[in-house]
Amino acid sequence: MNEFMHIPDEDDIRMEKNKARELRRSQWWKRKCAKGICYYCKNQFSSNELTMDHIVPLSRGGKTEKNNVVPCCKKCNSEKKSHLFMDWRPASSPENNG
Ligand SMILES: [Zn+2]
Repeated sequence: MNEFMHIPDEDDIRMEKNKARELRRSQWWKRKCAKGICYYCKNQFSSNELTMDHIVPLSRGGKTEKNNVVPCCKKCNSEKKSHLFMDWRPASSPENNG
């Protein structure tokens, strides 16, 4: 079922985390946070309330790339961590209403 998925080892994950730290310092990321919109619940936050989230988690083979990292509020981040990313939807998502 998951044979196509690369399971990362510790070194892979450490490398991706280092990349994430670099990316967090980039203008690209600062601009994203300045908008203050959580990717998942679409609510507005101040930039220091947003964290960097990997849409596909590093532990599932996700990479630190611009198309896989999004600003995410702390509430969504902690809710998402306890679910599989493909199963998880924020309760307050506007796209989840019908
Ligand atoms: Zn959120």
